[in-house]
Amino acid sequence: MSIDAPQFQTTAPSDGEVIASFPIMTPEEVSAAVDRARIAAHWWAELGFDGRKTRLLAWKSLLARRAEQLAWLVHREGGKPVEDALLEIALSIEHLDWAAKNAEKILGERGVRPSLLTMNQRARLWYEPMGVVGVIGPWNYPVFTPVGSVGYALAAGNAVVFKPSEYTTAVGQWMVDSFAQVVPEQPVVQLITGQGATGAALCTSGVDKISFTGSTATGRKVMAAAAQNLTPVVLELGGKDAFIVDADANIEKAVDAALFGAMGNAGQTCVAVERVYVHDAIYDQFLDRLASRARELHPGNEATSSYGPMTMPAQIATIREHVDHAIACGGRAIVGGPESIGESVVGPIVLADVPESCPAVTDETFGPTVVVNRIRDLSDGIDKANANHYGLGASLFGKDRKALMEAARRLRTGMVSINSWVMYAGVPALPWGGVGVSGFGRIHGPDGLREFARSKGVVSERFPSPLVLTSFSRRPDTSAIISKALVALHGRRKWTS
Ligand code: NDP
Repeated sequence: MSIDAPQFQTTAPSDGEVIASFPIMTPEEVSAAVDRARIAAHWWAELGFDGRKTRLLAWKSLLARRAEQLAWLVHREGGKPVEDALLEIALSIEHLDWAAKNAEKILGERGVRPSLLTMNQRARLWYEPMGVVGVIGPWNYPVFTPVGSVGYALAAGNAVVFKPSEYTTAVGQWMVDSFAQVVPEQPVVQLITGQGATGAALCTSGVDKISFTGSTATGRKVMAAAAQNLTPVVLELGGKDAFIVDADANIEKAVDAALFGAMGNAGQTCVAVERVYVHDAIYDQFLDRLASRARELHPGNEATSSYGPMTMPAQIATIREHVDHAIACGGRAIVGGPESIGESVVGPIVLADVPESCPAVTDETFGPTVVVNRIRDLSDGIDKANANHYGLGASLFGKDRKALMEAARRLRTGMVSINSWVMYAGVPALPWGGVGVSGFGRIHGPDGLREFARSKGVVSERFPSPLVLTSFSRRPDTSAIISKALVALHGRRKWTS
């Protein structure tokens, strides 16, 4: 790469200080990284589950030991408080640990039962690495979101080419460098740097899979680009998560969770609480309490602020548009309002009784704002939650466990948290992903490992079958025997309406 290649810089959202400069990589440079990754992928796959597990656990240990250093970098480059950054890193470490320790159990070779017609066959199933996985990440959780793809793709035996967001590239570099310290032999995880065009080049580079986390709008572009080579994609996109509070909920607990879910990380969380639906019987009490707790928050640029500045300045226009529109169409600003929207820090905004058709209810706001609307009952809340094109996560609060589980079944989302917010993210064995315009495919858990692997089924004959099925010299009575066997085995169940 030439030293006068075009560069870009990442800067601290709090004070504009330059954190680092990076080259804007060309499609040729992206292709070269993918070529190197192909060789590394072969070496990594040959290590087998045990060899990879040892190295992934060593990486995990290194992350745990240096978590504070990484948390400070996440804070400086992305703007979130250090404690929130540490929480994100802690969750990432738990996922790495789980993926490393469970890959063989989920993906390793095992026998499956043949059918009666194929009883003479020994049937085996296993999952092979795909090769090179391209991971494209966002800036809002610059450690947790990539690890959900990178960690699971590595555990499944793939090499990774990682394009972090242009806003958090130094964090991406830190992650890739730390991996190289425990796996110095081959470039199993490589960083490519640049803006949208570099990510677009990765989508058409011939990688074997793209794992994209980002906005729905970019997800559409990624899928269209990947279609050129029929590259499979997993898309983890935006959300408009609902938080439903039943009449018998513990109000204090629900308020606490809703407030953190809505305002934490300045609302820049894909599964942030953006819509709260509260049973009419406790609506006023809930809203009063939420408002008084929101007024106690102290957002700002400090490492210990309740939440930090907006990482991406362009998001402020969306927040303004949603808040202005909500008030213009009859919503009430209970805490803050348009005047809370500063140049980089946005004060907490609680809106109430906003019509369901407003963008503040229908579209992702991605800021420290929340809409609190009334519902008649749990069922009304579910209908309102489901009347949205996003479907990532949801939260339910109440006492009736049976009714809440039934509500969880009815919610059109990939994840649900009952009497807490987002706790599914901390259970590595559970899948992560959405429905509708929140994307498809899954990271985390067994599904997340299989997402980065190809299944292979193999049969081998144990003994010659008396009933040869696939031959031109089939016995004349074979079909008659099969017909009789079919009725005996499968044809005895009668339909009664
Ligand atoms: P973007 O969609 O703007 O960007 C995501 C990544 O895609 C960045 O690395 C970006 O690079 C890159 N990119 C931009 N254009 C292209 C392109 N044409 N082809 C390929 N890659 C491209 O999202 P944000 O970074 O703003 O992240 C916020 C969004 O991510 C929110 O909608 C949020 O809900 C969602 N998200 C979803 C999660 C989930 O698990 N479902 C988790 C976290 C966030 P660059 O930054 O350099 O432009």
